Amino acid sequence: MAGLVIVSHSRKLAEGVAELAEQVTQGRCTLAAAGGVDDDEHPIGTDAIKVMAAIEEVYDDSGVLVLMDMGSALLSTEMALELLDPGIVENVRLCSAPIVEGAMAAAVAASAGLTLDEMVIEAKTALRAKREQLGETDYADKEIPVVPDIQGDYEFSWVVQNPHGLHARPAASLVSTMASFDVQALLYKEGEQKTSANARSLNSVAALGIRMNDTIRMVVNGAQAAEAIDAFKALAQQHFGESIHAMSRKQEEAATKEPRSESIQGAISGQGASEGIVSGKVMRFSTTLPELPERTSNSETVEWETFAQALDKTIHELRQLQLESEKSVGSEHAGIFLAQALMLDDPDLQQSVQAFLAQGHNAEQAWVAAAQKLAEQYQAAQSEYMQQRATDVIDIARRLLSHLVDLELPNLTINNPVILLAEDLTPSDTASLDPEKVLGLCLSGGGKTSHSAILARALGIPAIVRAEGCLQSVTDGQEVTLDGFEGLLWLTPDEQTRRALVEKRKQWLERVAAEQLAALEDAVTIDGFAPSIMANIGKPEDIEALNKAGAQGVGLLRTEFLFLDRDTLPSEDEQYQVYCQIAAGLNGHPLVIRTLDIGGDKPLPSIQSVEEENPFLGCRGLRLCLEQTELFKGQLRAIVRAAEEHDNIQIMFPMVATIAEFHQAKTLLDECREELHKPVPQLAIGIMIEVPAAVFNARALAKEVDFFSIGTNDLTQYVMAADRGNPAVAELVDYYQPAVLTAISETCKAAQEAGIPVGMCGEMAADPTLTSLLLGLGVSKLSASSPAVPAVKASVRRVQMDQAKSLAIRVLAAESVKSVKQIIQASR
Ligand code: PEP
Ligand code: MG
Repeated sequence: MAGLVIVSHSRKLAEGVAELAEQVTQGRCTLAAAGGVDDDEHPIGTDAIKVMAAIEEVYDDSGVLVLMDMGSALLSTEMALELLDPGIVENVRLCSAPIVEGAMAAAVAASAGLTLDEMVIEAKTALRAKREQLGETDYADKEIPVVPDIQGDYEFSWVVQNPHGLHARPAASLVSTMASFDVQALLYKEGEQKTSANARSLNSVAALGIRMNDTIRMVVNGAQAAEAIDAFKALAQQHFGESIHAMSRKQEEAATKEPRSESIQGAISGQGASEGIVSGKVMRFSTTLPELPERTSNSETVEWETFAQALDKTIHELRQLQLESEKSVGSEHAGIFLAQALMLDDPDLQQSVQAFLAQGHNAEQAWVAAAQKLAEQYQAAQSEYMQQRATDVIDIARRLLSHLVDLELPNLTINNPVILLAEDLTPSDTASLDPEKVLGLCLSGGGKTSHSAILARALGIPAIVRAEGCLQSVTDGQEVTLDGFEGLLWLTPDEQTRRALVEKRKQWLERVAAEQLAALEDAVTIDGFAPSIMANIGKPEDIEALNKAGAQGVGLLRTEFLFLDRDTLPSEDEQYQVYCQIAAGLNGHPLVIRTLDIGGDKPLPSIQSVEEENPFLGCRGLRLCLEQTELFKGQLRAIVRAAEEHDNIQIMFPMVATIAEFHQAKTLLDECREELHKPVPQLAIGIMIEVPAAVFNARALAKEVDFFSIGTNDLTQYVMAADRGNPAVAELVDYYQPAVLTAISETCKAAQEAGIPVGMCGEMAADPTLTSLLLGLGVSKLSASSPAVPAVKASVRRVQMDQAKSLAIRVLAAESVKSVKQIIQASR
């Protein structure tokens, strides 16, 4: 028989309810009370240990239902669940039913031999009779969704703690999580006026306008209800994949400065969104939707087909953009594009398009009408953050439209350095901004949390938002000064202000330069170990930033960037020139050229590839190169030629799983050397360790290669069998997972035995909190994106190797992400 636990702030109340339930069932149910705290002076409160003991007391395989009174009772119960054995927790249900009526109903159900799930239903509907008697039937019906054929009725409540509420990215994580289960899922926003939304529709979840401190409740029904509610719970506890302390203090300060109310002579006032002072010429840019050309509509089916094709292409494009921008602005910001993909892949939005098609519109008209309607809904939202999501709708509208009609869409092409003025920039426009060309950004709209502002900060571009009227007050080419600290766009500063601005800019540049200077110092541990701290790059233009950041060479050149975004393959000569150019720009530091890592999810427009069902497990990286040997040999020849002239060049193969693959690649390389009569003895040959097979084969591989470089981005997803772009499994895609750490350690051991060095070029290498652990595990080269290099170098300077090694031993003994984090935290 399932047990029942009553949790209350008052011991007397909990025991009183238990007593009543015993009476009602004449002692035929198993129950325990967990009330109050053991403090004679302040006995009111709840205690997780008591709740845990009560659950253990009544637990058997039929499970336990827990009813709680309010507030911290729920928190203590959740804490108790964390302390309990996971095997027990699986069979424990928490229920929001009122404790008196709920306990009576559940106790009666238990004593009648009903299941745990049936007890939950009984408890939750316990107020119905009272409500009906009082004539409150409407209210009752609204609060408890009536779902047919309830096999399992699961729900979970949560108080949202994300500073901006459930805005696009966390909402996207929520929706994609729920959409991955076979369930009906309703999300309720609790409050005076209860509202609910289909939890599988991003736009309807967004329309709830859920803000920080709002209580939400997920109610789930269907075959996978239990799994879905567990996944939701886990996601909520991770704040829907968002770091709630993400903004640095400096950014926060800049971002929270309110626009001044008084007007400033000679300047347009806005809100500082990204620090810095710059002067330059203005360029204005408009992001509105274009006028559509006239076109007679075909049948509704044909128009829908046209729309559906454009939709697929756009979603694919956004996923691609997400992967690419992960490398330039980091995965958290790149999530913007995942949110946009989900915004598009939304049943409600597609229904809206269908409705416009049914009225006789053609595909592009229906799309624009549906997108405009959605943008208006966002604009009408209560929260300012949600209002700003209208820009995302316009962004996806433009993107999809470009697949529907042959229109000149406004395109952000900047040739000379400018201060860019716009109403707001779409995320794709902002992500593509080149900090060399865009000196500053001034938006008449937007807000401190608009994606344009977030991305401007990530790119280090000084920015102002909410500078109302800026577009009308200036002309293209006009000289202005943008003060991102104060949120001012200066048009005609008086002489004194101008001098003050020059001085302020000087101070700012000096501070930035001082930070850079420290970056150029050596990175040596306290006890004298000097690992190499290198940079990951994709093109020659990245060299300057790399050198400024103090990187000691290139640990990963992602050569696929030379191939993407073009219809023809770069020639061998072109590749050779690029490799030489980069090698020459590194002051003798090494250049590790990774051969093409394309295929699968990164198809090359210029080569034929077969569509695959599981691209990540398909013909990607070295596998594809071994199939397309002409393509591969062209690249190998270019590398060999460059390596003969530049002895700092090394070569690295991606996605190696077997010794045979390495041998095949090496044979092709040797063929190229022979054909070119260039033995290049100094050319070191390494491989990436990024698939589990390579870890298992590490001992044998280590005897063949000159170095390993661990690609934690892929290694994590393959070790955990969890797609790195899927938020539903985000918890698993975590390099803190003990299994991933063990894989790294095994790789290092194998390398050490063979006497070869191990580097790391996945995102994990960029995490300065892990530098000590990685050095302790035996990694001796860390390669990260250039902006992350100074922090990693600073972190190296704090390491003591004997402590790092002992940290590695302790971390490897940990069995969960939580323990790993605790051990690392305690060591800092
Ligand atoms: C990796 O997988 O960690 C890696 C560096 O390669 P990429 O991110 O380019 O797949
Ligand atoms: Mg990889």
